Amino acid sequence: MIMSNINKPEFELVSNWEYLTFPYICGLLAENPSEFSQTLHNSGYQKLQLPFTYYPFKISKIENAITAMRELGIRGFSITIPFKETCIPLIDELSSEAQEIGAVNTIINTGELLYGINTDWIGVTEALKESTDSFNTLSCLVIGAGGAAKAAIFALKKLAVSSITVVNRTDHKAEMLAQKFSVHSIKSDDLINQNLENYDLIINASPAQSISFFPYQSLTSRHSVFEMITGETSLTKTTIKTGGNLIPGIRMLLHQGLEQFILFTEKQAPVQTIESALENKYVITQ
Ligand code: NAP
Repeated sequence: MIMSNINKPEFELVSNWEYLTFPYICGLLAENPSEFSQTLHNSGYQKLQLPFTYYPFKISKIENAITAMRELGIRGFSITIPFKETCIPLIDELSSEAQEIGAVNTIINTGELLYGINTDWIGVTEALKESTDSFNTLSCLVIGAGGAAKAAIFALKKLAVSSITVVNRTDHKAEMLAQKFSVHSIKSDDLINQNLENYDLIINASPAQSISFFPYQSLTSRHSVFEMITGETSLTKTTIKTGGNLIPGIRMLLHQGLEQFILFTEKQAPVQTIESALENKYVITQ
C-alpha cells in the first residue's frame, strides 16, 4: 500500500509488481528533461538498495510514451511541461486532487492500470511550511493560470489562507480559474498600477523570467515571494534586494519529487541522502 500524503483512491490501489518489468523502471517525461529528478530518485534508490532506475526521457508525443508505459511495464513517470494536462485523457484513473487541480505530474503503473496523481500541490505546501506556520492571516497573489497556478491555489486553499487572488497575462483565464476555485482575480493592467500592500505572499506560477505586468518597484521587505522558476529571475533578484522572504522553487521541486519517490517505490524516501546528493549539484537550501 502507498504511504503518501495523497488521498486514498476510492478503489484499492494495489500494485501487481509481477506485471511490471524488473528491475523497475521510472522516469521523467519532458520536452527538455533536467537532471534534478534523476539525481533525486536514483540517489534514493541506491541508498535503500531498491531494484529501481530512473531515466530522463526527452519526448515529443505523450501518446507514444504512455503506450510504451503500458507495453513495457514501466512503473512510474514524472510528467512535466507541456504534458501535465495532455496526459490526462490517456490514463485510467485520477486521484481526487489531480481531478480537482486538472493537472497530473505523476503516473503510477499498478501493473493493471495507470493512475494519475498531482504532487505539485504537496511541493507548494511543504515549501511554504518551511517558511511560515501561520497561514490564516495571509493574503496571497498567484501569478499564472496554468497547471502550476492551479496546484498553488489548491494548496493555499488547503492551508486555509485568508485570501487568494489570481492574475494572468490572459485575463479571462484568471477569471475562469478564480471562478473554478472560488477565489478573486485581478486584471493584469490593474496589477501594474498597484502598490501590493494588499498582499503578504506573492507566488509566481508563470514561466516568465520578467513579468511585464508586475509592479516590481512596489515589493518591500514585508513581502514573502515564492518563485516557482528554479534559478535567478527578476522576482528573485528584486526580493533579495528589498530584503523580502524568498521561497525558492527548488524547495517545491524537491518536495514534489520526494512524494513521487514514495508513490513509485512504496517506501519512505531517505531524505538526508537525497538532499546531500542534490546539494553536490544544486543550491537547494533556502
Ligand atoms: P503552463 O501550464 O504552461 O502555464 C503557463 C502560465 O504562465 C499561463 O497562465 C501563461 O499565461 C503564463 N505565461 C506564460 N508565459 C508568460 C509570460 N511571458 N509572461 C506572463 N505570463 C506568462 O505552465 P505550468 O506548468 O503552470 O508552469 C509554470 C511555471 O512553473 C514554469 O516555469 C514551471 O517550470 C514552473 N513549475 C515549477 C515547479 C517546481 O517544482 N518548482 C513545478 C511546476 C511548475 P497565458 O494564459 O497568457 O498563456
